[in-house]
Amino acid sequence: MKNRQYIAQRSQPEKLKSDILKLSTIAKADKLSGNHVIDATIGTFLNDDKTINTVSSVIESINKYLPSNLGYPSITGYEEYKVGLLKWFLKENYDEISKNFYLPFTATIGGTGALSLAFNLFLDVNDTVLLPNIMWSNYKLIAKKAHIKHDTYQLFNEANKFNINDLCEKIVEYSKLQNNVLVVINDPCQNPTGYSLSDQEYDELIAKLNDLSQNANITIIFDIAYLDYDSNNQQMHRLFKHITSKEISFLSVFAASCSKIFGLYGSRVGALFSINKDDNFSNDFSLSLESQIRGTYSCPNGPALISLGNLLTKDFSTQIEEEIYNNTVVLNERTHYFIKLLKENNIEYLPYVNGFFVTLKVDNAYEICQTLKKEHVYVIPLSSDLIRVAVCSLNKNEIDELIVEFVKVLK
Ligand code: PLP
Repeated sequence: MKNRQYIAQRSQPEKLKSDILKLSTIAKADKLSGNHVIDATIGTFLNDDKTINTVSSVIESINKYLPSNLGYPSITGYEEYKVGLLKWFLKENYDEISKNFYLPFTATIGGTGALSLAFNLFLDVNDTVLLPNIMWSNYKLIAKKAHIKHDTYQLFNEANKFNINDLCEKIVEYSKLQNNVLVVINDPCQNPTGYSLSDQEYDELIAKLNDLSQNANITIIFDIAYLDYDSNNQQMHRLFKHITSKEISFLSVFAASCSKIFGLYGSRVGALFSINKDDNFSNDFSLSLESQIRGTYSCPNGPALISLGNLLTKDFSTQIEEEIYNNTVVLNERTHYFIKLLKENNIEYLPYVNGFFVTLKVDNAYEICQTLKKEHVYVIPLSSDLIRVAVCSLNKNEIDELIVEFVKVLK
């Protein structure tokens, strides 16, 4: 039996230099062994007492509906879930938008599932997806498993704004090489920087993409995993206003996640949908995704979908919005406190607007993270000069302690 290779070549284990879940597991084990640990590895929003920040009405709904909905859902999920989630995003504009646009939609296994479906749907094997150069690193693995390659556009320009020009240059380059150009824009509250595009940036981006679409098939996946953490969640987010109030010549697709917004992290609930005016596309979207889903994981997590779907449709009250809004206020206070301390201590960081993470600019990230690890402090090295801090998982005392550790190691 020695030296036999049972695992196929294409499934050989990946060498993940700084996988987030792996580092988080190490941090948890360190804590379990009795050490005082500061764990800023993972994008889970924790309360000050370190419990997971959840939404009480979501939990109540799961308790109410889950036991009586254990059957198989349809391949793309329940209608209640589709309507509930689209209403959540589009607010009082839902009726009008659904009259004027096609809204092809499928439930997915979290935001990760939405991205995986999209990478397989829009690109052929060996095509290239365009990702930001500073990104949630899992995009690369999702692309690899979809048998596509990736290239990156610069996230920021010299003025520390979204680098529309570099993105457009890459789109032009790839439009000459493949039939479809697929781009991921993680906005708002980008992971790992916390950057969100301004209205002016959306205007410019959309105008340029419209121009480029005259000569290329462009699909933009907006990864909106953190959408509700950007602004007042009682109004439709600015991104949807831009997409629905302008002529759009490219295809706009949204990879949504219920992990962060509704505190449903492990329940694996998300969605992939588009807002467009092309009925052919809408039909093909649903049919192609049905066979992809059926042939991989069969169907989504029905019990969780129906619980959230019923909550967002028949049991809806503004109390859900208020509770989630209050969560975003708590997060905001925490991250801005962290930023204040970074400024006071002259620690450099990338442009931050809102969201779970802040990214520090350093000289030797891997060494710094190793040194911190010895002090039982865990953060994520993204590259040789960037460190991601999941401020969402720290309370105020831990932020104070973390800054002290950073000051020591950066001296
Ligand atoms: N997109 C981004 C930018 C993320 O940070 C995450 C999770 O951390 C996801 C998508 C996927 O989230 P999930 O699969 O848990 O819904």
